[in-house]
Amino acid sequence: MLRMCLRPFGFLEEAVHTIWLHCSEGNDVNVSEPKTWMCLICGWIYDEATGDPEHDIAPGTRWADVPMNWTCPECGARKEDFEMVEI
Ligand SMILES: [Zn+2]
Repeated sequence: MLRMCLRPFGFLEEAVHTIWLHCSEGNDVNVSEPKTWMCLICGWIYDEATGDPEHDIAPGTRWADVPMNWTCPECGARKEDFEMVEI
């Protein structure tokens, strides 16, 4: 279980810490709720519930599970150029 919690966010240590706390509590399903990410460069939205079927990202794919070599379909930005957006 712990392995699923330690996702490679890389840029936001605080976020990792928060998620780790959720995981350690063991009874919170917030971690599995679909989240939305926005490209900081062009504003393209990645919705985990929708995925990116045109680029072999199935609906429901977690951002953490999107391949590191995936790039923004609009501008070619990489994963580290995206930011999580609360909706
Ligand atoms: Zn973009």
